[in-house]
Amino acid sequence: MNQSQPTPAEIERAIRNVPDFPKPGIQFKDITPVLADARLFSGVIELLTGRFKPGMVDAVVGIDARGFIFAAAAAVRLQAGFVPVRKKGKLPYQTHEQDYALEYGTATVAIHADALKPGSRVLLIDDLLATGGTAAAAATLVKRLGAEILEISFLIELGFLHGRDKLKGYPVHSLVVY
Ligand code: AMP
Repeated sequence: MNQSQPTPAEIERAIRNVPDFPKPGIQFKDITPVLADARLFSGVIELLTGRFKPGMVDAVVGIDARGFIFAAAAAVRLQAGFVPVRKKGKLPYQTHEQDYALEYGTATVAIHADALKPGSRVLLIDDLLATGGTAAAAATLVKRLGAEILEISFLIELGFLHGRDKLKGYPVHSLVVY
């Protein structure tokens, strides 16, 4: 394919802001227009994986649910495995679980107990970094299996929520920051 690489500014223009979804006051960042555009979708994967070559990453861990889309494509690009971190109750085999705080109450994410070998090199990906609770819980699960996190990457970061503060100690990358 002879297509130019999209810039982060182009990707940002394709992200649709949906006010008051799923509840009043939330500005939902809808990534479906990015996914529907072949050049933008593959450009996002190139930008998320560009710091690595095949052989440098053993597994790409994706976070339920939109993180799966990017993590799975990144895994294929890097010739790495794909591992899902899911909401509690979805994974069928033995799991490790981690709670994290929401605005009201808590949520729980889970990973299969045998999903990662100790020492395996992991890239952790989600679509969006907001308060950082979800990604921090996912990172805790990856570490609990003895794997090494090379980097945590997002398509979008809501910088004003300071989610990075919960991911101290890990290299964090995001393509579009609001
Ligand atoms: P947090 O744990 O607060 O960092 O929230 C991150 C998770 O919630 C990600 O998996 C996102 O998909 C989702 N999320 C949070 N805020 C938004 C938003 N404004 N638009 C779209 N997704 C969001």
